[in-house]
Amino acid sequence: MSDTVIYWFRHDLRLSDLPGLQAASLTGNVIPVFIHDEKLGDDWAIGGASRWWLHHSLASLAGTIEAMGGKLILRRGDTSSELNKLLTETGASHVFASRQYQPWSDELERNVHDMASEHGAQFKRYPGTLLFEPGSVATGAGTPFKVFTPFWRACLRSPQPEAPKPIPTISFPEVWPLSDALDTWNLLPTSPNWAEGWASLWRPGEAHAKNVLTEFLDDKVQNYGDGRDIPSKPFTSKLSPYLKFGEISPRQIWWAAQRCKDQEPGRASAVDKFLSEIGWREFCNHLVAQFPAMPDKAFNTKFDHFPWRGANASLSAWQRGNTGYPIVDAGMRELWQTGFMHNRVRMVVASFLTKHLLIDWRLGERWFWDTLLDADLASNACSWQWVAGSGADASPYFRIFNPVAQGEKFDKSGIYTRRWVPELKDIPDKFLHKPWEAPPLTLETAGIKLGHTYPSPIVDHKEAREAALSAYATLKALSSEAGVGQ
Ligand code: FAD
Repeated sequence: MSDTVIYWFRHDLRLSDLPGLQAASLTGNVIPVFIHDEKLGDDWAIGGASRWWLHHSLASLAGTIEAMGGKLILRRGDTSSELNKLLTETGASHVFASRQYQPWSDELERNVHDMASEHGAQFKRYPGTLLFEPGSVATGAGTPFKVFTPFWRACLRSPQPEAPKPIPTISFPEVWPLSDALDTWNLLPTSPNWAEGWASLWRPGEAHAKNVLTEFLDDKVQNYGDGRDIPSKPFTSKLSPYLKFGEISPRQIWWAAQRCKDQEPGRASAVDKFLSEIGWREFCNHLVAQFPAMPDKAFNTKFDHFPWRGANASLSAWQRGNTGYPIVDAGMRELWQTGFMHNRVRMVVASFLTKHLLIDWRLGERWFWDTLLDADLASNACSWQWVAGSGADASPYFRIFNPVAQGEKFDKSGIYTRRWVPELKDIPDKFLHKPWEAPPLTLETAGIKLGHTYPSPIVDHKEAREAALSAYATLKALSSEAGVGQ
């Protein structure tokens, strides 16, 4: 094989089950490349927590490639310009990549295609990020699904995703282009190092992704059906950051899940529930591929009239976990301290922001974008719009979570809340989720001084609920006057 080809890594930082890499390895000597394009996506450039994961993920991928006798070439700058330079430097005949579905991806891929053609090289893109390609699953009328259940049913009726492929045999060139040193990219926070301790919580990289999946299917999935809503229990997979960076493919998950069902038929319904959550990831990605304004604009245009509030002191209290509602504060502090938040609590904090504080869902979406390790444009946008009521197949706006009831239902004994809000650790369970109702003596015995050691609630639940319902009524009136809606 004399041709030199480039494999351009994107959010597919793995070597197994990567169709584009498979094809590259059959075509020539492969130069693996990752380009850190800080301007890609403009306002949606990579957030702080994701930079931490990216650093470790690239270090892990580079290590595996080196062990195979190759190198991961790192370049920083505009993607097309860097690929252009690499084509000049290497004379590569092809650029291979996985297709991506962010609103800017198509244009970028077209530019790379045109730029490669000018070099007489071919740009080839392959699936690899989703189970089903956007556009391949449609309603009987050929339109995109806007409701999850029929979407997922149609996916399950489609031909099964192909079985995953192992790491291909890759031959590498003898001469290498220059590479940046990863450390010079400064992806890790320094002053302050807010990610201190994350290395003991998270192990980015393909090998760890596989271990996490195996451990989940071997030991946890049987509890997924009932346990996935309990934030103190380790019953969800925590695969989201691995999926976001493509360290594991959804096909690998799909097929491992099918094997698990074959071997342990008693786990079938829990496994199917888990797969349907992977289905939500598909649904969100298909939606954003087809409605690219979704991260910035209400899917249901009726919500353009909603009287959202902008940034204010309550937003800061929410971000810092100082709202005075213990389950909300626990979630926001878990997020800040670990780069992750349990799904049930994500729903509670998002509802609190958009309904109790009436703050624009886009401000919450931005905060999550910066602080979540799994920050994913599609899943984040769709989930925020789902909670805010403006999304496809959304929870109705008038369904307002009561943060006290949510805490009492899903963290009854308070293990989760006490872990993240330690100043409430000694309050009796009965008052944990509503410390303002505790008698003065109980608070004193627990060492709590409301408004000093722990905040008083920043809004009253009942009043906030009424304000939200009345804002919603205004919206309904305004939108029926304007004759808009979906
Ligand atoms: P599991 O329960 O083990 O689920 C397996 C996988 O399915 C997840 O890893 C994830 O890839 C996918 N998944 C599960 N639930 C959802 C969902 N509701 N929507 C889309 N995919 C889902 N998920 C992200 O990956 N990135 C985000 O930026 C993101 N932002 C969110 C914002 C809000 C306001 C809410 C309510 C949810 C958000 N989610 C997001 C969805 C969900 O909370 C996480 O995917 C999940 O908590 C990850 O934990 P897990 O891997 O243990 O999930």
